[in-house]
Amino acid sequence: MKKILNIHSHLNLEQRDDTIYSTIYPKLPKATIKYGSIGIHPWYIPPLEEINWENFVEEASKNKIIVIGECGLDTFSEIPLDTQIKVFQKQIEVSEMLKKPLLIHMVRTTDELLAIRNQLNPTQPWIIHGFRGKPQLAQQYYRHEMYLSIGSKFNTKTVLAIPLNKILLETDESDETIDSLVDRIAQLKKISPQTLIKQIYENTESIFFR
Ligand SMILES: [Zn+2]
Repeated sequence: MKKILNIHSHLNLEQRDDTIYSTIYPKLPKATIKYGSIGIHPWYIPPLEEINWENFVEEASKNKIIVIGECGLDTFSEIPLDTQIKVFQKQIEVSEMLKKPLLIHMVRTTDELLAIRNQLNPTQPWIIHGFRGKPQLAQQYYRHEMYLSIGSKFNTKTVLAIPLNKILLETDESDETIDSLVDRIAQLKKISPQTLIKQIYENTESIFFR
């Protein structure tokens, strides 16, 4: 079994093989990491004519890149939403073409996201990263067959409500270790850390290594 516990981290001070390290294109992942993700973040979209999609696909095709993103939509970004949508849709295409899951950064754009999903009908798993929303919103996502990744800041009621087979964990840019996050979530869910870790391994195996 492949064992991935932390699906999204930008910090690789303490490098671990159970972590997916995320880089924001055109930056490229460190050569030493085992698993990575690459994407164009909605805050950092370069002028469209400067994006070399051929090169993006080449980098995203590499074996160690097991997920595309983070990418998505964010109303707090200074980039106009229609530009964000174009760049997001392009990355959905890459995810579908390379048959790699999509890691989504989504802030106050649920309707747009669900509309795009309904329109494109993707076959790859979609993960909403850093989910802090309320249980009702969470339900909208996992009912649409999406996964929710929980980081250091989360809504307690939501964590209680999410089915164990839809939960993923991440440290993103936080200083909290993944082990500490596992302990907190396990305590909340009233299960042992070992049980939670086993469940996360099963979830990540079925998403990233189908
Ligand atoms: Zn991130």
